[in-house]
Amino acid sequence: MHRYRYRCTVCRTTSPVVHQLDSLEAEGTAHRQAVHGGHIPDDELIGEIDRLGRWYAALSPLAALHARIADGLSDLRNEKAMGHYWWASTGAALLIGGTAALILLLVAAAL
Ligand SMILES: [Zn+2]
Repeated sequence: MHRYRYRCTVCRTTSPVVHQLDSLEAEGTAHRQAVHGGHIPDDELIGEIDRLGRWYAALSPLAALHARIADGLSDLRNEKAMGHYWWASTGAALLIGGTAALILLLVAAAL
C-alpha cells in the first residue's frame, strides 16, 4: 500500500495521509485554492511517504531501501496503520545486511 502527503512550507502544514495519487492531487489543489487563492506555494513538498511519515525522496538510497522493505513487511500485518513493527524494521536491516554479506562473500570467492 502506498502512502502520500502534501506539505505546504508557507503555512507549515502537512496533509493527512492519503492512499491514492488522485486523493493527493485533490488535497493539494483544495489547500492551494482555499488558502493561497490557487497559487502554488514555494518549496511545497508532495509525494510518497513511508510508514514513519518520511518522504521517500528525502531519504538516502539505503534508508529508502530499508523503509520500502520495512513498509512491505509491516503491511503484511496491518495495511492501514502507520509506523514500523520492530520485527519488520529488524527484518529489513537483516535482509539488507545479509544481502551485503552474501555479495561480499561472492566477490571474495571470485577473487
Ligand atoms: Zn499553504
